[in-house]
Amino acid sequence: MPPVNLLIKPASGLCNMECDYCFYCDETQKRKQASYGLMSKETLDNVIRKAFSYAEQSVGIAFQGGEPTLCGIDFFEEAVRLVKQYNVNNLKIEFALQTNGYAITEEWCEFFKKNHFLVGLSVDGTEATHDKYRHDKKGRRNVPEGSSGSQADEEKRCGFQYPYSSQ
Ligand code: SF4
Repeated sequence: MPPVNLLIKPASGLCNMECDYCFYCDETQKRKQASYGLMSKETLDNVIRKAFSYAEQSVGIAFQGGEPTLCGIDFFEEAVRLVKQYNVNNLKIEFALQTNGYAITEEWCEFFKKNHFLVGLSVDGTEATHDKYRHDKKGRRNVPEGSSGSQADEEKRCGFQYPYSSQ
């Protein structure tokens, strides 16, 4: 078998923001059931276990949303633990996570650094453009207080490896 790359959306379309152009904001309302909630740790276990039963060389696991951080740090700590448990052939591991940054704290940053996550931060162009289209459910901007929103500032604050333009 070749390397296996997983794209896991553990919060499906759930998000703590409400960007003007978001696909999910209206799309989830068209579904028979708008949301099935957050992914359980049991499902996470099944997905990771099966990936390692097929993979050779490497396993990549990318988390995306909606907003994946809604699942909480303990969900991702469990993902790391499961990878260590099932990686009996010592395959190369690559973690990635795309976030809107809204709920990122020092604790998250430490977790990302410690576990070598490649983190994509969704930023739309200039500060003015970003703030116009990307906001929370009350219309408030999502750039953290004290942050310039620049790449250098974000790298210093969180150890982000690169900003990402959309998700
Ligand atoms: S952060 Fe992403 S998922 Fe959340 S509302 Fe904005 S575009 Fe949609």
